[in-house]
Amino acid sequence: IDFGFEQVRTEEKQGRVRQVFDSVARDYDRMNDAMSMGLHRVWKDMAITKLNPQPGERLLDVAGGTGDIARRFIQAAETVRDRRGGQGLPDKGPASAVILDINDEMLLAGIDPNKDAGLDLTRVCANAQDLPFEDAQFDAVTIAYGIRNVTDRMAALREFHRVLKPGGRLGVLEFSTPPETLIRKFYDAYSFTVIPRLGQAIAGDRDSYQYLVESIRRFPKQDQFAQMMRDAGFAQVKWADYSAGVTAFHTGWKI
Ligand code: SAM
Repeated sequence: IDFGFEQVRTEEKQGRVRQVFDSVARDYDRMNDAMSMGLHRVWKDMAITKLNPQPGERLLDVAGGTGDIARRFIQAAETVRDRRGGQGLPDKGPASAVILDINDEMLLAGIDPNKDAGLDLTRVCANAQDLPFEDAQFDAVTIAYGIRNVTDRMAALREFHRVLKPGGRLGVLEFSTPPETLIRKFYDAYSFTVIPRLGQAIAGDRDSYQYLVESIRRFPKQDQFAQMMRDAGFAQVKWADYSAGVTAFHTGWKI
């Protein structure tokens, strides 16, 4: 068997992904807002509510970029901690998070002394497919708008399962496919015309954003991705469509 071709293709894809994010790291937050019309913030809040962060929990946020999800997770757990304190319940301590990303520029761009103040955050540069952690270390693993860019998604899903503690949960937030035909047609028209133009206007980079749109189109549909999670060992896999399925949030448990 000759794996030569697959190997080259894989390296090319990883290289291309790196290049895309290197070129957008600095404009990233601005571009995210423009592309999703600010909705990515709402989707992230909805996902965090569903994850239900608890005091003392340890999160691994894979492809964590500038750290949006990790900060939200810790802050949501802190709200629960305050409430428990008010009820005289025992203090389980603050939640903590590891932000992991393949791109060190993205991690550096995300360091913000104001936003990070008082939060137990660690940043790690590594590949989702090969996590530098022992088994059963985390209560929750998240990946938001990152799994689409991972070359071997099954390997990454198996890694997420491995580093979760039994009873831990995975949350995957990703652009998806609106199931309704009319909405899907409108959304395709928007993404194939408006997003590359926005990429040109804001980041001066049309091609990278054209690539992003195409990668969203190629990503497995909601039910297909749910099956991949089950194949990686996750139980009780479910998803919720946000904004008619422009984004989907998949969850599953390690039991
Ligand atoms: N999760 C953040 C958010 O929602 O704002 C960032 C999402 S950003 C669109 C995708 C991130 O995935 C980039 O920071 C990129 O460097 C990272 N990434 C791509 N491939 C990766 C891999 N194989 N392992 C870890 N991170 C990866």
